[in-house]
Order: sequence, then C-alpha cells, then structure tokens
Amino acid sequence: MKRIVLFFFTAISALHGQSDLEYTIDATKNTDTFFVSISIPQKLNKTSQVFQFPATAPGTYQTQNIGRFISDFKALNKKGKEIKVERKGMNQFLISKPHKVATITYKAAETFDTPVKNYPVYMMCGSSIETDHALINTHTMMGYFLGMQESPLKIKLIGQPEWTTGTALKKDGEFYLANSFDHAVDSPILSGKLSYAETMVSTTPIRIFTYSESGKFSSDALLKKMEAMLEASRKFLVKLPVDNYTFLYFFLSNPDGVTGAWEHSYSSEYVLTENEPSDAYMKQVTDIASHEFFHIVTPLNIHSEIIESFNFVEPTPSQHLWLYEGVTEWASNILLYRGGVVSMEDYLKQSIIQKIKINENYFDKSWSLKRLAEESFNEDGAKQYGNIYYKGSLVAGYLDIRLLELSNGKRGLREVILELVDKYGKGNPISEDDFFKDLVKMTYPEIGDFIHDYIEKAEPLPHKEYLEKIGLNFTRTGGEIKITKMVNPTDKQKMLLEIWGKNLPLER
Ligand SMILES: [Zn+2]
Repeated sequence: MKRIVLFFFTAISALHGQSDLEYTIDATKNTDTFFVSISIPQKLNKTSQVFQFPATAPGTYQTQNIGRFISDFKALNKKGKEIKVERKGMNQFLISKPHKVATITYKAAETFDTPVKNYPVYMMCGSSIETDHALINTHTMMGYFLGMQESPLKIKLIGQPEWTTGTALKKDGEFYLANSFDHAVDSPILSGKLSYAETMVSTTPIRIFTYSESGKFSSDALLKKMEAMLEASRKFLVKLPVDNYTFLYFFLSNPDGVTGAWEHSYSSEYVLTENEPSDAYMKQVTDIASHEFFHIVTPLNIHSEIIESFNFVEPTPSQHLWLYEGVTEWASNILLYRGGVVSMEDYLKQSIIQKIKINENYFDKSWSLKRLAEESFNEDGAKQYGNIYYKGSLVAGYLDIRLLELSNGKRGLREVILELVDKYGKGNPISEDDFFKDLVKMTYPEIGDFIHDYIEKAEPLPHKEYLEKIGLNFTRTGGEIKITKMVNPTDKQKMLLEIWGKNLPLER
C-alpha cells in the first residue's frame, strides 16, 4: 500500500513539474493597479473550482482579506472566451468549468493607495506601484486554486526596463520559481530604482536592496551600520540556519499607514519613514533588522503545525506568539549586548526600562500573552497586539533569568532555543497543544509555573524579584525606573550577572 501511494505521489509531482501555473505581474500599465494574468498550461481538475485569495499571511497576525483589492476577475478558455465565474464571500472566486480554463486575469489594486474601511494592511505587508518602483508582497496580488497550495509555480514580473529587482526567489530565464504558494508568499519582490550591496557572514551571502524615495538611504550605508549586528547574530546563533539572505528596504518620506518590517525564511521586507539618517535613526533601523533577521530561528525554524501548514482561507491563531515574536524581540536585543554592540547600561535602558514603561502606559496589562496571540486577528486584539514586542520581550527575558538560575548558570533561553532548533527545525513543527508540556520536560518543573503565570495568565511582571536574581536593583520613584548593579551581590548573583551578559559555550 505504502509503496503504491508513494509511487502515485511521485507521478503526480512529475506532472506538476510540467504544468506549473505561470503568474505574470505587470507593474507598468497603471500606477495604482497591478495587472495579473495566470496561464494554465495543463487542464485543471474539474474539482479545482475555487480560486482563493489570502485572508491573512504567515507572520502578519492580521486579518487582510486580499479579495478586497481584486477586481475584473476573469477566467478564459483556450479561445479567449469567458467562462462563468461567481464571487463567493470576500476572498473566493468560483469557476464554473475549471477544466476549460486556459488563462485567468484580474487586477490587484495596490494596498498603499487604496482606502479600506477596516483592517488596513500594514505597509510592510502591502503593495505599491509608482513610476520608479513596485513593492510586491506576493500574497497581495496572488491567489491559488484550493487543493493546489503545495504546487510549484512561476512568477514573471514586468517592470520598467531600467529597474533592478531584489528577491530571495531563484530565477530561471524570465521566471522566478516558487516551490509552492507558501514559498511565493514567503518571498517578497522589490523592483525599481534600487541601490545594492552585499557581504558574507561566515559562509552566508547577505544581499541588501534599497528603495529610497528621496535618496537619503543607500544599501552601502545600511550595510555598514548592520555589520556589527550581523556578526553579533552569528555569534549568538553559532551557525546561521540559512544559506543566503536578502534585506529589502523601502523608505518613504510620508508613509500613510503602519510601517515596520515583515520576516520571511530567506528575506525580510522593511517599509520605513525616510527620516534623516542620523546615528540614532540608523540604530533604530538596525534594531528592526536584528529582530527580523532573528526570525530565521523562530517562527521560521521553530513553529507549531498551525504555521507549518498555513491556513490562507481562515485566519487561525497560534498560542505560541510569545515564542515567535516575544522571544525574537528579546533575542534580537540581548544578542547586541552580548556581542558588544550595545553597553549594559543602554540595554537596561532601552530593552528593559523602556519596554516596562510602554507595557504599562500604552496597553491593557490584563491581557495575557496567550490572549494577545488568540485575538490578534480581531479588531480589539489588533490594538493590543503590539504589546507582544514589549511585554512579550520582558517575559522572554525573565524566562532566560529563571532558566539561568535553575541551571546554576549552565543554560539560559538562548541555549534552550538552539536545542529546539536542533530538535525541530523546518518541516518538523512543535506541537501547538503540547509544547508547554514539552518545554517543561526539556527544562525544569518550575518553568511550568512561569508559563502559567506570565504567558497563560497575566500576573503582574516580577521585575524586582527577577532582576535581583542576577544582582540588579530595581527601584521606582514616581514614574521613574532605575536598574543598577547591587553593591554587595552574593556569589551566585555575581556569577549569574556575568553569565547573563555572555553567549554560553554550547554542549552540542
Ligand atoms: Zn517579528
């Protein structure tokens, strides 16, 4: 039985090889709209009736309903005659005779300049065309036939002749190749008048493409500022879990919407305000890049089955957002301290005190990290979601301290994360339901209480108690918070403070 199934599977895959759908995205016809056509070289199944646009995309934790931006959807037969199509809900098109379809065409309005009533798409997850650029987050203009999410596909981009294109996708002739719809969505494309720079981090080529509306930012200047961060990341991770990586930067003078960055397996995409490139602003940009780059570990290598087989039809939250975003934020900050890029004083100020203040003043403290995860796709949840970068990062930091304390300075959160990369990794998800239990088994029973209090529930964060474990005093006077080294720490506190500032040698 098994062999037959396997053989059958191979036969189908081979067929797919010859019949990959070819998506052509034309960014030259109009400065507000992408014209998309899909050529279908081989007959579709009679059951392939539903063409689906994404309701959300991995790593956005946001409802997007891309169908809102799609118009003039047509299915044509070989002779160019229209086949009946019916719109179903926000994101689906029902094709009456899929086996007769040779071409699909539609228009995708850019998300930047298209007003919507609710759920605006974050700019870094959106799309834009002007005469000098096209920003293509592929899920904003590509859909797939239900049942074919895992089929390979090809993408051709028609841009202006002088444009440069940056993407992590490999190219074959005029087509970019994607192994699956998920892979396409995981691979943004930036094209236009871009600057380019590259470097190597150990054996991994790092490529940077930058669009800068008023020319204040170049890939070379960004790379210079990012080099210390990249090296600190390498030291923290020991070995980078990717064999190439692309940074796509997009700077706009007056962005109209939420800016930020979005992580992918082999790239990350930034839409940021084009401020003056002062040292302080460059540091902010580098800190964001550090965060996105660390995502190659989580969620891109460590994630639950909900992320592994992603549901584009119905947004499905994973309760482990604390791990994907909270731990990432913590790691991307502390690796800079451990790598000597920022001082202890700056780390305490920016990554602890500042985060405590934002958690307390801008968000509802009664939301647990688990609730932030579970409700991120609804409108109330979207308002609290941002706290995952503050409260989530603080909780990850205290989990690190607790692990260091319980292991007597042998193993903190970094070491546990690297063990998880070894144990799981791409294609081998953690268990959505059992991961907390598995983590306790891997570590200490006390970690179960920590998870219960600070991830599942919203107990007040134990700033003073935890910082004292590593010999730091925590004091509040009015609204002011101070964290200082203890004058007379115990031997254990002294040892833990020293270890806390280091990447421990690995027993792997
Ligand atoms: Zn993130």
